[in-house]
Amino acid sequence: MKLSLLSVLALASSTSAFVASPQSSRVSTSTQLYERKPFITGNWKLNPNTKGEAIALAEDIASSVTSDSPGDVALFVPYPFIETVQNICGDKITVGAEMCTPEMKGAFTGGISPAMLASIGCKWVLAGHSERRTINKETDEYINAQCLKVIENDMSVMLCIGETLGEYEQNLAGPICELQLKKGLAGVSKEDMSSVAIAYEPVWAIGTGKVATPEIAQDVHEQIRATLKNMYGEDIGDSTKILYGGSVSPDSVDGLMAKPDIDGTLVGGASLSGESFGRIINFQA
Ligand code: PEP
Repeated sequence: MKLSLLSVLALASSTSAFVASPQSSRVSTSTQLYERKPFITGNWKLNPNTKGEAIALAEDIASSVTSDSPGDVALFVPYPFIETVQNICGDKITVGAEMCTPEMKGAFTGGISPAMLASIGCKWVLAGHSERRTINKETDEYINAQCLKVIENDMSVMLCIGETLGEYEQNLAGPICELQLKKGLAGVSKEDMSSVAIAYEPVWAIGTGKVATPEIAQDVHEQIRATLKNMYGEDIGDSTKILYGGSVSPDSVDGLMAKPDIDGTLVGGASLSGESFGRIINFQA
């Protein structure tokens, strides 16, 4: 669904989430009080081609996860590879699905329900990835239904949000993220927020090689956290993990992860190389 610039601006001006000075929201970040363990995640998208290649890649990535790795690791992989990757990764890496259908049963050819995913031990599901929003025309309402059903089926959901280049250039990153958060999380209770993580993925940075600078990403993450506090209260705002995604690479990960409101990364292209993703998993804190 496309939003007019006016409606986005109206929403932005009707909320107090963005009136806090950057300084005051930085102080209320409370990173020291809320130890948010880093969460490094990969999204394989429509890759690799074969089960054999998936096995080799999963083995390569799993070998990089050691007791010294600074955070938790998850891989979102194509459905046919989920169980195979689970078997390879054991408890080193959590395996998730790249999407699901909110419908639970019946005449939905090609559908994959949350219950099916839960029944094979899937722990996480991505919702709202920008490629699903644009290529598959998933609306905020559909994405919201996915989030609710994933949580209802005892899995966690990573809600992806982010602005297009045009929106970024009009200074609308914060308001767009606020709108996508409010629509995507409609009906998600405060209690259910322990099953939610947010991935901030500026569309202009996904697969383009144009990574947001740590300063740009931190600024938007701070605004996202302010929105979550506004929606759910200080404690949920402080404890919810907000990951950055968009051309993260071994060269950019350390700078991004040094920022107080960036709790992890969602990595596309670089998660298809054991060497690159291994370096990202073992970022230098
Ligand atoms: C993604 O798929 O979510 C992503 C961020 O891709 P890339 O890292 O390739 O930009």
